[in-house]
Amino acid sequence: MADRYDVVVIGAGPAGYTAAIRAAQLGLKVACVDDWRGPSGESVLGGTCLNAGCIPSKALLETSELFVQARDHGPAHGLRFKELTLDLAAMQAHKNKVVSDLTRGIATLFKAHGVTWIPGRGKLLPKNLVEVSGKSAQQLEAEHVILASGSTPVNLKSAPFDGQRIVDSQAALEFQEVPRRLGIIGAGVIGLELGSVWRRLGAEVVLLEAQETFLSMADEQVAREALKQFTAQGLDIRLGARVLESKVEKNAVTVRYQGKDGEHAENVDRLIVAVGRRPNTDGLMSDDTRLLLDEWGFVHVDEHCRTNLPKVYAVGDLVRGPMLAHKGMEEGVMVAERLAGRETAVNYDVVPSVIYTQPEIAWVGKTEQALKAAGTACRAGVFPFAANGRAKAMGEAAGFIKILADAGTDRVLGVHLVGPNCSELVAPAALAMSFGASNEDIMLTMFAHPTLSEALHEASLAVAGHAIHLAQPRRAK
Ligand code: FAD
Ligand code: NAD
Repeated sequence: MADRYDVVVIGAGPAGYTAAIRAAQLGLKVACVDDWRGPSGESVLGGTCLNAGCIPSKALLETSELFVQARDHGPAHGLRFKELTLDLAAMQAHKNKVVSDLTRGIATLFKAHGVTWIPGRGKLLPKNLVEVSGKSAQQLEAEHVILASGSTPVNLKSAPFDGQRIVDSQAALEFQEVPRRLGIIGAGVIGLELGSVWRRLGAEVVLLEAQETFLSMADEQVAREALKQFTAQGLDIRLGARVLESKVEKNAVTVRYQGKDGEHAENVDRLIVAVGRRPNTDGLMSDDTRLLLDEWGFVHVDEHCRTNLPKVYAVGDLVRGPMLAHKGMEEGVMVAERLAGRETAVNYDVVPSVIYTQPEIAWVGKTEQALKAAGTACRAGVFPFAANGRAKAMGEAAGFIKILADAGTDRVLGVHLVGPNCSELVAPAALAMSFGASNEDIMLTMFAHPTLSEALHEASLAVAGHAIHLAQPRRAK
């Protein structure tokens, strides 16, 4: 007889494991099926985020940034190192330990909350049956199913992955030597983060980006500042570059691409392809379930992550919206709570985005160009880190914080940041926006001195035209 559960979750990435834990906390009997294999072929929890995404990439970004701080910024602080060398094997070992500590942590949480972990591949069948294949092959009966199978890198015909020279983001986290010359197709989030890691460690990095506009999803002023900083760091970002063909020779790859001024060829010793990710729906359900996909191949869901099938939900990268771990986690919590009879909802207007480069780029809410296009009149206030004491002391004074407030109601509609620690500074902005704050609410809040967060305060004062530490207030009131 099939085991029966209140909830079966397929996928144990951040969306799935969070849904499983929250449902168990609320007293439901939960199983979570996942097929991820760790470096030695063992079953591990955490999905892309913990094993091949957010966490390992941030570990490498941290180490490589420490290296740059010591090498390039140490002398300005009076720190001189006789010899600074990179032990890449130790750097990788540190990353691997961070990953394994965290994935084991999820297993401990499953145990503590009574979630049954079933390693294997799950497939949704009609009538909410889930077929598990692999070592623990079995059939599960579920009152509710939550699909959380995540996403996979897009493979390009003009540069197909070969696992050695032309690689996806997962393999690019495992390089055992610093490439001399690294090519990256796609100057999006992954391209910029991984490009930064290997550039900091000495690689020449060329990014080929198809779009003419750099970081088109970010505020234009932020994107301009970021491009200036990245170019100064030696990231060679070529916009409007369409890759035509890639040829792998013995130890190198030649990439042919169409640029704005004709055809070019680049020789690199490794090529990372980072042109987006696609939802994992292959083999996820049998045809007779008639699960509806949208026109882009994502599982179709409403605002509460309900699919077209009764008692079947889908969350995370598998469904519309930004492919971000925290967005998936909030969806997982929402679905679990709704199954337990609560009226929880996700506020999709306040999803923070962060690019963990140096400077960090972060935003929440609408960009100035999106507000203009929608005909929403807004007031902008910009405050540069160059006028912030803490940023100066850190030697990280490039960038700014920009607040956009509704011209009529004063409600904060967007906050855009580029500069030091912006991944953390976006949190108070998101908090304010999720409470429906006006710009005046931020103006009237006291911020500790000397902190980077004072730049948020000053940006709100700048919206009203009277930032204290700006020489030329635009509108004194
Ligand atoms: P996933 O994490 O992809 O997990 C899905 C799980 O389901 C996997 O374990 C998969 O093996 C399993 N699975 C799939 N099909 C089946 C099946 N049929 N049966 C059983 N199991 C199945 N996001 C951020 O917010 N911040 C970051 O800093 C960040 N950095 C990133 C860096 C990189 C290099 C990459 C690639 C991504 C990064 N992301 C980041 C994105 C983030 O990793 C994803 O948004 C997040 O992992 C999505 O979570 P998920 O649970 O929907 O899916
Ligand atoms: P992305 O959408 O951020 O960037 C892909 C880039 O590739 C885009 O700029 C696109 O214009 C370009 N592109 C597409 N096709 C191309 C082609 N044929 N030639 C040249 N350029 C081309 O996608 P990504 O960087 O692959 O990341 C995938 C997902 O993972 C993203 O949705 C992102 O949200 C998530 N992620 C998030 C973080 C973070 O939160 N810090 C970090 C890494 C990844």
